[in-house]
Amino acid sequence: MSWTQKILRVNLTEGTVVSEPLNMEWAAEYIGQRGLATRYIFEETDPKCDALGPDNKLIFATGPLTGTMASTGGRYSVITKSPLTGAIACSNSGGFIGAELKSAGWDMIICEGKSPSPVMLNIVNEKAELLPADDLWGKSVWETDKLIHERTQDPQTRVAAVGRSAEAGCLYAAIVNDLHRAAGRSGVGTVMASKNLKAIAVRGTRGVGNIKDPKRFIASTMEQRKVLADGAVTGQGLPALGTQVLMNVINEVGALPTRNMQDVQFEDASKISGEAMLEPRESDGKPNLTTNAACFGCTIACGRISTIDRTHFSVENKPEYWGNSGGLEYEAAWALGADTGVGDLDAITYVNFICNEDGMDPISFGATVAAAMEMFELGAITTKDTGGIELKFGSAEALTWAVDVVATGEGFGADLGMGSKRLCEKYGHPELSMTVKGQEFPAYDPRGIQGMGLTYATSNRGACHLRSYTVASEILGIPVKTDPLVTEGKAGLVKAFQDATAAVDSMGLCIFTTFAWTLDNMAPQIDAACEGEWTVERLTEAGERIWNLEREYNMRAGLTGADDKLPDRLMKDAAKTGPAEGKVSGLDEMLPEYYELRGWTKDGQLTKDTLEKFSIPA
Ligand code: SF4
Repeated sequence: MSWTQKILRVNLTEGTVVSEPLNMEWAAEYIGQRGLATRYIFEETDPKCDALGPDNKLIFATGPLTGTMASTGGRYSVITKSPLTGAIACSNSGGFIGAELKSAGWDMIICEGKSPSPVMLNIVNEKAELLPADDLWGKSVWETDKLIHERTQDPQTRVAAVGRSAEAGCLYAAIVNDLHRAAGRSGVGTVMASKNLKAIAVRGTRGVGNIKDPKRFIASTMEQRKVLADGAVTGQGLPALGTQVLMNVINEVGALPTRNMQDVQFEDASKISGEAMLEPRESDGKPNLTTNAACFGCTIACGRISTIDRTHFSVENKPEYWGNSGGLEYEAAWALGADTGVGDLDAITYVNFICNEDGMDPISFGATVAAAMEMFELGAITTKDTGGIELKFGSAEALTWAVDVVATGEGFGADLGMGSKRLCEKYGHPELSMTVKGQEFPAYDPRGIQGMGLTYATSNRGACHLRSYTVASEILGIPVKTDPLVTEGKAGLVKAFQDATAAVDSMGLCIFTTFAWTLDNMAPQIDAACEGEWTVERLTEAGERIWNLEREYNMRAGLTGADDKLPDRLMKDAAKTGPAEGKVSGLDEMLPEYYELRGWTKDGQLTKDTLEKFSIPA
């Protein structure tokens, strides 16, 4: 069954750590990871609770395929209530710690309450204990990782930690594991810091057993690995260029949000693209990209390992940043580059390093800086606010300054750490916040890719591309090509992608497999691993159940259908250039049909029938 059937419940107020059985009835309905942990959050917390108060819980959850030999099966998710959005938060990460947790004998960690002083959770197989972490408080993620390894004297210890930004109250702080993999979005790191939980260290040596049919599982996973290897995106594009394969593509189709989404094409896109990361630098003849890298068990290896030009102003006096570290993914390169108008590859690589080092979501950080830059150019923010910094679009110096002050929460860094919505409200321009439900947009302009407008508006965790990546269909033609400029058929497309993605996230697999796999490729793997019969239909139904549960959580938290909206800029200001020139988002044409397909009321509430259909507690 590939479950250990054990949860570690950590009461931070009491300082206790106890083992309890996993609810296998819920696992049968919600698969695992994202779905199953949401069920626990739904059951055990009040959706109206203060996200940063002791009543909120923070769950680290693996899926049934986490830690197995299924390709990309190294994923885990963090589920909690988001302090950025007030909605459900679920942030997914790769690296190695998810598999390590499973190998230590745990499916899930539920953290509740609040410790009176900084602590870390140390897990070595069945032994789990809270240890004082006063010496780690105030340290970056990278320093914390180093100090914990000095403490454990075991290089195989896997660490997930929050950095200084989370401690300073940045509302989009991430939890970073394995130095440069992150549960990045929605402020899950801020919740962790609010509980005085600095880090989780895990060492597991037991391996993952309990596979229902090992022979069939091995055969199935090997067969599906080949499908990934043969896929154009999973076998070639992602290993060679990473997600940065998209920068030039999305710019060409006129959907690259630029300068706080004022434009849809960035004149310097090619300078910050995946291709640019391969070009030799003038100073030393070496490219930005050193190598690609893989998370646990992954045969795609989209990860980037990069260096910065040592003569670049951002690092010329900082030799600690001269080595290899996690390089730019597309979303980060867009947020730090096109959205701020900065076409300096070394500068945005540096800022990305700091986002990893101090645990910040680079999407929300970059988009918040972009909003601040627009307000600076309008005169709503001045050098008096910034301490003399000219916060203008295109300024690499301003961007690198901004990341340092958000990391520590100093001065204007505290304002930037509030996120775009609160920042724009504070400085009198709420209309300049490019957010949904308070979370910043990722790297696709809905005017050029219509399905993404509906995706963002209805995403249960605020603006997010990873809840329904219709870019795959609308731009890449996977699994079928649809026209990105039309709204017809997109309601059904978004719903289908949302439900399938919820299932993928809940199995413990990486969403990037879906560039080559559908649920048809995944069902045989989970069916061979887990008890019961796992078909495409069952996975799809579970995905829909998960989506509805997340929605119902949000409704009980106080959100309504009125929160399923896009900023006026995307609804009224037409794209100025490219194939989408003259287009605005057609959200209003898609949303009513979407509600109908979901079985919700006209104002977006779940009906009694829908609640009953998915056995969601009233
Ligand atoms: S595809 Fe990339 S993000 Fe996904 S598991 Fe593999 S290396 Fe990690």
